[in-house]
This record gives sequence, structure tokens and C-alpha cells, in this order.
Amino acid sequence: MNPTRRSFLKGGTGAVVASVLGFDLKPAFAQAKELKIARTTETRSTCPYCSVSCGIIIHTIGDKAKNVTAQVVHVEGDPDHPINRGTLCPKGSSLMQDILNERRLLKPQVRRPGSDHWEDIGWDQAIEEIARHIKKTRDETFISTDSQGRTVNRLESIAWNGGCTDTNEFNYLAVKTMRSLGVTYLENQARV
Ligand code: SF4
Repeated sequence: MNPTRRSFLKGGTGAVVASVLGFDLKPAFAQAKELKIARTTETRSTCPYCSVSCGIIIHTIGDKAKNVTAQVVHVEGDPDHPINRGTLCPKGSSLMQDILNERRLLKPQVRRPGSDHWEDIGWDQAIEEIARHIKKTRDETFISTDSQGRTVNRLESIAWNGGCTDTNEFNYLAVKTMRSLGVTYLENQARV
């Protein structure tokens, strides 16, 4: 083989040298490509960034033992998903950086009135505080009748906005819950 300058640059120095020496690199390249996700667990999910709601596959390694933390090694578009059919925009393609990010919040946080900082709280405390605020707000602002005395039973002081990763089942429960409180302002970023 007499490599040209162009093929030398295109193929990479190692590939050309190996090829010159008579090695067939195709199996090595194929194996390297396969190894990346060969032993991963595939989890299907939805890109959380925008209302297009593209389907994604998250690849994790780890044997699911209790003392092992699963590690995300690859995220890609889901080819079976009817919305994106495997494609992702640049933002969705960078989802690994969202998952493996030291600035990612893993606990609920609260910023108290007058405070200049956020504090970590436990999940039980967060749920208890949210429930208390909802009840207090509803008790104080619930509208039973309108200005003409007609029954309306509505709550205009609380709004609900869902995210694009919420499933139909979750949205069903959210709507039932909000309607039972009298909430009239409810929306969802997407309808997955
Ligand atoms: S991949 Fe891009 S277009 Fe698709 S949901 Fe994510 S941000 Fe939106």
C-alpha cells in the first residue's frame, strides 16, 4: 500500500501504519464500537428539556446489587419513539452532561421568607411543608360563589404546571387532584 497524504490524514496515523503492516483493523474497530454499550441496561425515558418530548435511551452499567450505584455511560435518541425516531437536537444530545453534573440538585431545597440562601430539606419535610402551604392557602382564598351568588367552588391562588416527562397516568392523577382542590389554572409543558 502506498498511502497518499489525504488517506494518511483521513485514516489516522495508527490505522494507516497498521494497514501498511498488513493488519485488518475492522474487527478491532467493530469490537470497540460494540463494547461501549455491550453490557449496559437500557432505560427508556423522555428528554426533559422542551415540549417536543423526544424519546431517549439511557444506558447504565452496574449489576443492580444494593451496594452498587448504577453509572450512566451513554444517552441516545430512541429509534422506536414515534416523535423523534432516534434523533436528538444538540441540547438533547448533551443530556449526559445534565445527568452527570456536580451541580445537579438531588435533594429538595427551600428558601425561607427573608432568607438569602437555599437550604436542603428531607423529602418527608418537603411533602409536609407543601401540604401545609396548600391547605393554608386554600382555606384562606377558596372562592365558593361569584359576585352574583352563583356557586363556583374554585381556587385561583394556586397553579399547577407539569413537565414533559410526566406520563399520561401521572397527569391524570395531577388533574384529578388539582380539580378536587378547585384549582383552575393548570397546564402541562407537553402532552406525552
Ligand atoms: S432532544 Fe431537543 S427537541 Fe427533543 S425534547 Fe430534547 S430539547 Fe426538545
